[in-house]
Amino acid sequence: MKIRKHLSASGLFRCVRQGFKQVEDLRTGVVQISLPDALMSGFALFSLKEPSLLAFDERRKDPENLHTVYGVEQVPSDTQMRTILDDVEPEKLRRVYRDIFRQLQRGKGLAEYRILGQYYLLSLDGTGYFASKKVHCENCMVKKLRSGETLYYHQMLGAALVHPHLKTVVPLMPEPIIKQDGHKKNDCERNAAKRFFEKLRQDHPHLPLIVTEDALSSNAPHIRELKKHHLRFILGVKESDHAFLFEQVAQARESGRSHTYVVTKDGFSHRFHFVNQLPLNASNLDVQVNFLEYWEVSPKGEQYFAWITDFTITSQNAYTLMRAGRARWKIENETFNTLKNQGYHFEHNFGHGHAHLSVIFALLMMLAFLVDQIQQAACQLFQATLAKVGSKKRLWEKMRGLFFHLPFTCMEDIWRALLYGYKISGFVILEET
Ligand SMILES: [Zn+2]
Repeated sequence: MKIRKHLSASGLFRCVRQGFKQVEDLRTGVVQISLPDALMSGFALFSLKEPSLLAFDERRKDPENLHTVYGVEQVPSDTQMRTILDDVEPEKLRRVYRDIFRQLQRGKGLAEYRILGQYYLLSLDGTGYFASKKVHCENCMVKKLRSGETLYYHQMLGAALVHPHLKTVVPLMPEPIIKQDGHKKNDCERNAAKRFFEKLRQDHPHLPLIVTEDALSSNAPHIRELKKHHLRFILGVKESDHAFLFEQVAQARESGRSHTYVVTKDGFSHRFHFVNQLPLNASNLDVQVNFLEYWEVSPKGEQYFAWITDFTITSQNAYTLMRAGRARWKIENETFNTLKNQGYHFEHNFGHGHAHLSVIFALLMMLAFLVDQIQQAACQLFQATLAKVGSKKRLWEKMRGLFFHLPFTCMEDIWRALLYGYKISGFVILEET
């Protein structure tokens, strides 16, 4: 079986570790645990899908595989890890996401994500991952509940390259939605998106991207932001929120300026109706968009969707635009839901800290997920092992079982042991000493 060195576990772990080595350590005095070791241990915690930090702490008794597989020299205790990571600025992890992305790009792993010619489809959505009435840090957002109690919470704007035909996604560095430095007010998804686009273009200045989002994003200021950063878009729209636009569509239909198109495929009837060059709303007549609505009719019933886009819609590209618009769900289904339900413990509180710990843990978990997704997309060994074991949850369980009981030099050998089987010879129970 051919292993692509840079797109299998060892190559990706090495890239992560190299990136962590570049993060400046601002601590003074003698340090027991190096910053790269603390970060790499945090990464290993999520890569191994440990249920808690305490479970990880148990592993310190036998740290051999953490040395050989993850390259951790000195494993921190749970308290040491929390203390060190709480002081790490989340932005410092950006370069690691970028390095992994470059490695995927160089390994030609991105090519299959192309859509509508040269583009990549970037799905964006916000999600919450922490809420508590007690635990909080200086970056928590705060809400007064009707009961008079205070709720502390964190959210993030998640972003991932998706493709309608592919199950795997490529997450980019999420933008934390947290109280911003010097601000009294809570942060919001729209401001997080502004920051996200700025940084996205610093990291990937020329990447041809189509952004796809839900109907909340279909407003003039947001579309101007997208254009400012040379981002194409396919955004959901709803009649209840975009009455002016839907009136324009009705008028276009009546006057014969709109187009319809029907295609029958796989027992489904796909009906399209589109109009190019319409103003988004009465107060922003300068923001012109192209409108696509779509009905999927099957024996089970009918589904309806509508989008706006800056692509000129034709009967040649309407089907692909529709598939791209519908692939937006992958940020929820294939990303957030996988993190919540496939063994990553997304909503579990591994420790909150006073400053950055909660955000750092969320970013390390997303990074571990990114590395897993690349293995799933590009590593035949991983694919074969996952297919044999049957589900991710079982794969992580079996991987953890081997990792903590037998010595390995690399993660690939664990996948091989699960795929081909293994034999333990010379089993001896030691005498009491
Ligand atoms: Zn907090």
